[in-house]
Amino acid sequence: MIYVQPELPYENNALEPIISKNTVDYHYGKHEKAYIDNLNNLIKGTDWEEKSLEEIIKESSGPLFNNASQAWNHILYFFSFSPDGGGEPKGELAEAIKAQFGSFEEFKKQFEDAGTKIFGSGWVWLSTDEKGQLFITQGSNAENPLTKGLTPILTFDVWEHAYYLDYQNRRAEHLHKLWDIIDWDIVESRY
Ligand code: MN
Repeated sequence: MIYVQPELPYENNALEPIISKNTVDYHYGKHEKAYIDNLNNLIKGTDWEEKSLEEIIKESSGPLFNNASQAWNHILYFFSFSPDGGGEPKGELAEAIKAQFGSFEEFKKQFEDAGTKIFGSGWVWLSTDEKGQLFITQGSNAENPLTKGLTPILTFDVWEHAYYLDYQNRRAEHLHKLWDIIDWDIVESRY
């Protein structure tokens, strides 16, 4: 199976001023594309071609894991945004957030804090288990909660390439602003 980079459901400038067109051009157009190209080159002619992307992430290591996981992570990331996003989650996800974190504001604070404190490159995740329990976790480099049996529903990329062109070293400010473009309908559909 050959992986094709999915088209974004918005224009590259649609997330401005939170994420600039320049950043989307590089982050989606160069970084994400490179992970998918590398993944295709690494699995070509091997038994990995018969596996799903999730199976590759759970069973591989080294360069194959890094590129497969980074491909998956970026697809989840870019498909969590909308120029019409923001606001608050509704329904069962909103209830679960309130039950576990006390309030949506407190959840956002803990999620931003976890992302800001990751040392070096990585991802901050909101995942769920089969019981609907929510988990905020930190991951280094290409880490993905799928390898721990969790189902990710939201992630913020804290690699510098995600924000350096727009925010330089101000990672916390960048993460704080991302809430304004989160498409909660999509996140809820994953829950
Ligand atoms: Mn990235």
